[in-house]
Amino acid sequence: MTAQLIDGKAFAANVRAQVAAHVTTLKADHGLTPGLAVVLVGEDPASQVYVRSKGKQTVEVGMNSYEHKLDADTDEGTLLALIDQLNSDPAVHGILVQLPLPDHLNEDLAINAIDPAKDVDGFHISNVGLLGTGQKSMVPCTPLGCLMMLREHHGSLSGLDAVVVGRSNIVGKPMAQLLLGDSCTVTIAHSRTKDLEDVVRRADIVVAAVGRPQMVPGDWIKPGATVIDVGINRIDAPERGEGKTRLVGDVDYDSAAAVAGAITPVPGGVGPMTIACLLHNTLQQACRINGVEIPE
Ligand code: NAP
Repeated sequence: MTAQLIDGKAFAANVRAQVAAHVTTLKADHGLTPGLAVVLVGEDPASQVYVRSKGKQTVEVGMNSYEHKLDADTDEGTLLALIDQLNSDPAVHGILVQLPLPDHLNEDLAINAIDPAKDVDGFHISNVGLLGTGQKSMVPCTPLGCLMMLREHHGSLSGLDAVVVGRSNIVGKPMAQLLLGDSCTVTIAHSRTKDLEDVVRRADIVVAAVGRPQMVPGDWIKPGATVIDVGINRIDAPERGEGKTRLVGDVDYDSAAAVAGAITPVPGGVGPMTIACLLHNTLQQACRINGVEIPE
């Protein structure tokens, strides 16, 4: 079997186009422009790339983008004061604090200082609790993107066996909650899971969110299963020239694609959906905060 490619890049372009169309309507009908504020502390190179990309795509869909760059040695009081100011700014409908923060800053404190109504990352404890109890909440962007692609591919997910490898608060746990919400039978695997390959092999849906390059080989995949690869890992690529690198996922793409029914590539799978979902969440919050009907 050769797996169908789940094209996250194309899917994300479609989501962004829909968001842009709603933004145009919001501006025309309500004089409302959604605004997303991103707070970056320090100079982590990967975070700088993400923040630049988020800002660019925010503007491209017609929203206002506010970037706040703070020095790496910024103290907690300054960061919390900025978050407080953004919480009460009516032009800001979404606030994202780029993680990881420098070691001297408490991430939980910063995230939980965000007004839950503007928490477009869905990491605030209130939103986590709402998701965990099956109530309407802000859903973290990466798992939301995975769910959108799974629903599009399968239609109903009801009754399918899903295995999520990884139990982080930003990917694994919310992904498992979303799959449970769609009536999958969900297993969460992690570094202490016994016989991981047997656990993965019984899944109709495998979501890999580990951070280990090409860890899941094709012979762990049940024939016909759907594989969502969240991992983004940079490895050496001497075949491309001296000192060159390339991005790979947590799944060994070639061997998995020979067995799976469908698979997301890396790059071009989950990654583009994450920012598209961030824009989707910001649009929804702008509508909710202003009492305008929320587009699905
Ligand atoms: P994380 O916080 O480091 O969590 C990794 C998880 O993998 C942990 O739960 C860990 O288990 C588990 N794990 C580690 N080694 C394992 C093993 N040998 N077998 C089974 N499980 C193992 O990572 P994360 O933030 O969830 O991110 C995971 C990956 O997704 C990374 O590559 C990251 O770059 C990528 N990512 C991509 C996007 C995107 O937009 N595409 C967004 C976020 C993250 P324990 O809990 O037992 O330690």
